[in-house]
Amino acid sequence: MLGLLVQAGYGVDADEEQADYVIVNTCSFIEAAREESVQTLVDLADADKKIIITGCMAQHFQTELLEELPEAVAVVGTGDYHKIVEVVRRAEQGDRVVEVSPEPTYIADETVPRYRTTTEGVAYLRVAEGCNYRCAFCIIPHLRGNQRSRSIESIVTEARQLADQGVQEIILISQITTNYGVDLYGEPRLAELLHALGQVNIPWIRMHYAYPTGLAPKVIEAIQTTPNVLPYLDLPLQHSHPDVLRAMNRPWQGRVNDEIIENLKTALPEAVLRTTLIVGFPGETNAHFEHLLNFVKRHKFDHLGVFTYSPEEGTPAYDLPNPVPEAVKQARRDALMQVQQPISLGQNQKSIGQVVSVLIEQENPQTGQLIGRSARFAPEVDGLVYVQGQARLGSMVPVQITGADVYDLYGHAIV
Ligand code: SF4
Repeated sequence: MLGLLVQAGYGVDADEEQADYVIVNTCSFIEAAREESVQTLVDLADADKKIIITGCMAQHFQTELLEELPEAVAVVGTGDYHKIVEVVRRAEQGDRVVEVSPEPTYIADETVPRYRTTTEGVAYLRVAEGCNYRCAFCIIPHLRGNQRSRSIESIVTEARQLADQGVQEIILISQITTNYGVDLYGEPRLAELLHALGQVNIPWIRMHYAYPTGLAPKVIEAIQTTPNVLPYLDLPLQHSHPDVLRAMNRPWQGRVNDEIIENLKTALPEAVLRTTLIVGFPGETNAHFEHLLNFVKRHKFDHLGVFTYSPEEGTPAYDLPNPVPEAVKQARRDALMQVQQPISLGQNQKSIGQVVSVLIEQENPQTGQLIGRSARFAPEVDGLVYVQGQARLGSMVPVQITGADVYDLYGHAIV
């Protein structure tokens, strides 16, 4: 949206004080995300801003948002963001604009302009949008539609454009990256995509959301043999117990979790494994939870995210019996995180004494301390590397790691 607006001659700024129109790209995945989105909207309305609401809340609650928020001048759905210039123009003429396709089908490609700041070393690259699965707890297919993949040629072209702009890390995103290509080619083509991206001059290529069942031998081979593809696997496992996975409508996963993780560790001994789990799904018993606790202890993931189950209207799980009380959900989440802390610390401590590449992303204006990430950390969700020394923002430098805690690493740049 920013790329299109800049191309059309509009100025963009991250400071809403400067803006005539504020675009709020909302999330509607779970209750907590909606609350955050609503709070942002209310704060902007209090500041008398003209608001354009985009993203999943716009898709979900188009009419309610316009009714409740007089400051909203437009609502733009998840498959309509490419219409942003026309939306702003109509809003400027005084229209209240609703552009929400009931079934989102659009996906941007390499011809859509991007807006980037020059010091950003990382770029997200969407390879597919939407999802054909129907996990019982998940509203995403309803908000984003079924999967549609971009062609390998389109993705590689965009990756080359980003490389030319000095990008050091590309993060491939979609709802299930291991299913990339199924809709377009009739079969998953992630391995072929990774091989093709291996030809692009980008030091790090990271994938988000690898389904364990989609990590076929040819995908593992592509990770092994493509030097710029990071052996970083973000596996959204959600749970370990077969009963809970069946209730979540992910029945295929329960039988295979342990074996697949062991196979991955054998094939990619250097792999950094991240997973996200849900606790407190309706009907989750103490025994189910113990199973999950032992699973986490056994597999020693490098990084772990735990969510408490959030019932979402419009999903099959919304009406399931045997809800787990909120306090029990929280206690289970805390117990899992406690078990994980020494594991994460141990995994981080393995880096002490090593020299690792760090992508420098921030500089503390007071202390001059540099902050970046090594390959074992994805942006936003994992830890950081605090670096002593000098380096340019957006550059990648070798760093001697001298310390570690549960989340972060510490070291000095080697010049
Ligand atoms: S949880 Fe992931 S795989 Fe399941 S329906 Fe949602 S987006 Fe699709």
